[in-house]
Amino acid sequence: MGIELRPLGVACNLACHYCYQNPQRDAGNQRMTYDLDKMKAETLRIGGPFTLFGGEPLLMRFEDLENLFAWGLESFGSSAIQTNGVLIEGRHIDLFRRYKVSVGISMDGPGELNNARWSRSLEKTRQSTALVESAIERLCREYEPPGMIVTLHKGNATADKLPLMADWMRRLHSLGVRSLRLHLLEVDHASVRDTLALSARENVQALLAFAELQSSLPGMYFDLFEEMEALLEGRDQKVGCTWRACDPYTTEAVQGIEGNGQSSNCGRTNKEGVGFIKASEAGFERYVALYRTPQAENGCQDCRFFLMCKGQCPGTSIGGDWRNRTEHCEEWKQLFGIIERRMIQAGKVPLTIQPLRFDLEQRQIEAWERGENPSISRTLAEWHEGRAGGEQTGSSHDSGGANGFHTAIPVPPKVRMSWVSESARQKWEVRLEKLQGMMEEMTVHAASVFAPGAPANRCAVRLVAEANFLQLREMAVAQGRAAALLPAQALPRGIRARSRETASGVFLAGTEESVLRAKAAWESGNLQAFQALIDLPGCCLRRAWQVDPGSVGTSHAAVDLPASIPVHTLLAPLGISVLPIEPCSFDCPWALEAAAQWLELAAARGYASESGWLRECFSWSISWSELHGVTEVKTPLFRMCFQSPSKAGSRLIRRIGTAAEVDGGARGLSFPYLPPPRQPRLVEIGVAQ
Ligand code: SF4
Ligand code: SF4
Repeated sequence: MGIELRPLGVACNLACHYCYQNPQRDAGNQRMTYDLDKMKAETLRIGGPFTLFGGEPLLMRFEDLENLFAWGLESFGSSAIQTNGVLIEGRHIDLFRRYKVSVGISMDGPGELNNARWSRSLEKTRQSTALVESAIERLCREYEPPGMIVTLHKGNATADKLPLMADWMRRLHSLGVRSLRLHLLEVDHASVRDTLALSARENVQALLAFAELQSSLPGMYFDLFEEMEALLEGRDQKVGCTWRACDPYTTEAVQGIEGNGQSSNCGRTNKEGVGFIKASEAGFERYVALYRTPQAENGCQDCRFFLMCKGQCPGTSIGGDWRNRTEHCEEWKQLFGIIERRMIQAGKVPLTIQPLRFDLEQRQIEAWERGENPSISRTLAEWHEGRAGGEQTGSSHDSGGANGFHTAIPVPPKVRMSWVSESARQKWEVRLEKLQGMMEEMTVHAASVFAPGAPANRCAVRLVAEANFLQLREMAVAQGRAAALLPAQALPRGIRARSRETASGVFLAGTEESVLRAKAAWESGNLQAFQALIDLPGCCLRRAWQVDPGSVGTSHAAVDLPASIPVHTLLAPLGISVLPIEPCSFDCPWALEAAAQWLELAAARGYASESGWLRECFSWSISWSELHGVTEVKTPLFRMCFQSPSKAGSRLIRRIGTAAEVDGGARGLSFPYLPPPRQPRLVEIGVAQ
């Protein structure tokens, strides 16, 4: 885990064409202020040390730089900085020395090979490159050699440029540089692909050329090749984040801290330019999905390198959708293949050719499904221990409660949320919680109003947390109504009011007679009579019983849900739904009529605030998409993901919102975020004096 302290966010003195932070700049999500105390407090909470990061961190006031580095030395014994190097002066080197700051420089090569690291004009770019070259020499001479990060692209790694790069690396080696990390270009924009992206073959050739070069530069490590061999041997305790099943909602390897002290993820995951705060828990839906998705559909099924590669960095996923594998699949596959062959020739036995691999993969999938992410080496050690102890392979999933309430229906998916800001979280988390309580209680109120006059004297229903049943029954009794709890199977496609509760039952409320009759009909297996006693539109109820939840969503459909439909169930994973089941269609007139009555009743029964929040939720633009068995829902305030009940196909539903502006909503580059303000693609910032 590394803490990246980002006082000025993505603000930078350069305007590199390919920077992975450009979406955030394009979305207008830049901030030029910071609060040292808040950043320090968050660093201490996570547990330092930190790397000062940007954009370009040397744009900070010099006094504040010194303040942070002095604090870093005092608190953690050292710190680090990742910079483009252009602004490094003698006084900075003095700071680095005094406060034990390790320096990392991002640069793509000498002279014109560094042109993609653009500085407003070719002339200025050349000047900047010359400044960095001299800063590197000075650091080596007066302090210590920096670590280098080099991104490979058409500007520096085509066949004709590789000899120049090799000369440069030899020169760096002679200066004392020993750490050099190679990055494949991350493409976030079509123009970057057209002008800078290498083909897979060119990338592989470049990486192999550097591997060859490394053997002639004693002590210099490009990291990549050693890591890939270690992975093939199951020694992956120290490999980089891109090989470790990184969850884009929490990016464990990168603990970002913004200038306002807010937590953030690795910037490579910000494809829409929105700097989400971290989700409260990690999840590995991506990796389970990739394992099961055919390679032809952008998954990794049947790839013998999956255990090691895992579909690689989600920031490089095909089409910018983290549920797909990396777009550099071909490169990694070829390189793993080459290293695998060399290992076999050297008498080693990589995991890829051992039958054991299948068992390890299975264990890894089971661990991810439990929300754990063990290294290969740990899984391997457990496998050896299990063999020594005669243990059987098997999963430890709960088989359900003894009362049978939730044995035959799917366990609700674990929903993970990530908010666009801490203030949005603070405001809405508590509201969503209250809305869930209101959904449950409104079942009692609905029974009081509708049941007596309704045809056949019907019952109001909802899937509620078992733990809340007694309290809800008391409420029903106080209103002169009866209540009962039936197994969750009594309401197929039912929406859980408490989405995190696995133990849910169908709460029935109505007159004593209606509840008794409904209960008896259910217990005697008379489904028709039971359905007739439930106060829900018949068309929706019939469809709920006909549709197998596991079969929903096998199409490749894209649907726009117009604002003229006032309510919907796109937020049902959070328990937010007026109707307690999925309606038979988004525009079912009976379901919409029932929803309108329900909302009126809620306001009349003292839930004015909750009704207002609910109406706000329904006014948001929302994108709901399903891919490879993972659903992601995005609103202007948060995104959430979970494993879908269906396993195949892809679906996209766009709800066009009615709200002109969502208070606290994020700006972003695509629906459903607020459009960016008009501005040039890259904001130019003056160089600090
Ligand atoms: S998004 Fe990629 S680079 Fe960022 S922490 Fe995850 S794996 Fe590492
Ligand atoms: S090499 Fe390609 S198919 Fe194999 S695991 Fe990596 S990304 Fe997936």
